[in-house]
Amino acid sequence: MTAPRIEMTIGPELGPRTALGPMLQPTLMELSRPGRGEGKVPHPPADALEDIPVEHRRAMPPALPELNEAEVVRHFVNLSHLNYSIDSGFYPLGSCTMKFNPKINEWAARLFGFAKLHPLAPDALAQGTLQLLWELEEALKEISGMAAVTLQPAAGAHGELTGILMVRAYHEARGDHDRREVIVPDSSHGTNPATASMAGFTTVTVPSDERGGVDLDALRAALSPRTAAVMLTNPSTLGLFEDRIVELLDAVHAAGALAYMDGANLNAVLGKFRPGAAGFDVMHFNVHKTFSTPHGGGGPGAGPVGVGEALLPYLPSPLVLREPDGSFRLERPGERPESIGRVRAYQGSTGVLVRAYAYIRAHGGTGLAQVSEDAVLAANYLKSRLGGAYEIPFDRPCKHEFVATARPLKEATGVRTLDVAKRLIDKGYHPPTIYFPLIVEECLLIEPTETESVETLDAFAEALIEIAREAHEDPDLVIGAPHSAPVRRLDEATAARQPDLRWRAMTGAETPCPQ
Ligand SMILES: *Cc1c(COP(=O)(O)O)cnc(C)c1O
Repeated sequence: MTAPRIEMTIGPELGPRTALGPMLQPTLMELSRPGRGEGKVPHPPADALEDIPVEHRRAMPPALPELNEAEVVRHFVNLSHLNYSIDSGFYPLGSCTMKFNPKINEWAARLFGFAKLHPLAPDALAQGTLQLLWELEEALKEISGMAAVTLQPAAGAHGELTGILMVRAYHEARGDHDRREVIVPDSSHGTNPATASMAGFTTVTVPSDERGGVDLDALRAALSPRTAAVMLTNPSTLGLFEDRIVELLDAVHAAGALAYMDGANLNAVLGKFRPGAAGFDVMHFNVHKTFSTPHGGGGPGAGPVGVGEALLPYLPSPLVLREPDGSFRLERPGERPESIGRVRAYQGSTGVLVRAYAYIRAHGGTGLAQVSEDAVLAANYLKSRLGGAYEIPFDRPCKHEFVATARPLKEATGVRTLDVAKRLIDKGYHPPTIYFPLIVEECLLIEPTETESVETLDAFAEALIEIAREAHEDPDLVIGAPHSAPVRRLDEATAARQPDLRWRAMTGAETPCPQ
């Protein structure tokens, strides 16, 4: 079979580009042949159109492709093979916790009573789901040491917004109207400053110190009567535990500000560190990271938010409550008048919450602590294996992820982190997160998670070490990668900003209606 040539229009001003390769699939339109598959689909009766007013009938039939069933099945199966997923290989995407998702969670989320429950079902008919949500709130309270939890937010970033809106409500209720600033470390995830500005605050950035922690003196200098909150990520996006957390939080509270914890990295500290007990006032969980759920495809997530006593009145409503008789109900409108209100329709991404519940219950308390120990062990193991080939900027024990840099490699060979990442595709791996956090030059952020075997970690380490060797021996091989992928290097900015996803027929798209 010859390789299909496919014209891909990448951006109008760039004109059509041709992507080549036998792995790319022609569209169904291109595979279509007139009359193919005819007779397989029952034709409607001759009088089928009679009830439709003439002016609403098509003059032309829609330009639908004509194929036989085998072609259609192969088309979609071949397309699915172009997807890289956690079910097909190792996915060391730092900051994302791409752990294996136990399949039993999928079974649980698809149980008829959860999946088919009407979102407006009265409480009396939704007792099972309400109980699960209530128990999940309780579990997250225990895990975090927070006083209460809302399950509504749809993702971590949405949880941040919810948390910071509560911070704003808290200061406003106290008449503290001058607190217009939110402090974030320079290693923070981009969603932190984005959240602050969406909630109407200005962002003040504080630098990291040479050990990769928040610079305590810089934080003290930035704190003022204008500070509403400080958003910290612990462990940080560098994969390092903030070991001066007590001093940091004392300084925040002494300034009259609240402490927000970005809980995206909770996978490293389950059963070890409880943010509420440490003094954080509010935090979000990325349940699609820490507590499984297929993640990374842009699908739904869930970002529950936990609060301490100070923010209890402002939690989004409705919460799920348990009555003294053991039944469950949603809070009624107006029951907690200071609530910031709903942040999402219904009860959040319930399917994702069912998976989180199943994951937490399957592991139990000691099992969750073991998850974190294994994730930390895997990251430190991989870090120690890579130390010779790549520079490790903060050489102290990491948590669930670590940063490495290709800066020395770039200086010696011209091969950059981007090239290393692209070459990994040739070796069958999804690349790790690159160029984040922004404070480390030529950064790779590697997170193996607890679900990978030592054999997988070793093979991945070998691949990265081999790439470093290739960079010295044959830099063009690495700079030209990937060599085996369906497409080479795309113009990612244009593809993201001006995606052109519509198929256009080479000849007329429509053919006259057959009589
Ligand atoms: C993933 C992540 C977020 C954002 O969470 P989403 O669920 O993707 O919205 C925020 N902060 C950190 C540190 C993260 O890793």
